[in-house]
Amino acid sequence: MSRERSTKGRVLQIGRWLCATYDTPYPVTIRVVKKIAADPGEPKRIRRTGYYGETWREGRQIIIRIAVRPGIRGGDAIDSLLHEFGHAVSMRHEKIEDKRLDHGAHDDEWALIWGKIYRRFYDEKGEEDAWEF
Ligand SMILES: [Zn+2]
Repeated sequence: MSRERSTKGRVLQIGRWLCATYDTPYPVTIRVVKKIAADPGEPKRIRRTGYYGETWREGRQIIIRIAVRPGIRGGDAIDSLLHEFGHAVSMRHEKIEDKRLDHGAHDDEWALIWGKIYRRFYDEKGEEDAWEF
């Protein structure tokens, strides 16, 4: 069991647990970055912080980026990862070829999967199990 002390380390560790626990249409690569620039059309408060996370398909893999900017609460970065991983799981092969599928894809299917991930992580010992990864 390795106790990851940094937020980045813990996000990547939970990412390994998620990858081992859930099927996705393509393998998932998780990257932790300092900031994800928001689109110019976003409100000022979102442009200031940037996005918390984003998910898209690139060739035959799914990429998730999670922003761990200085001062961010670890729990926020982890919640963002659970949210984004819900997108990775809920992508279907027929949908995934449509590159427009990214932000805003919060349909019922995503919501159900996200809810299951969230519950497993916080209520069914996933948080604890993830320390093994
Ligand atoms: Zn989303």
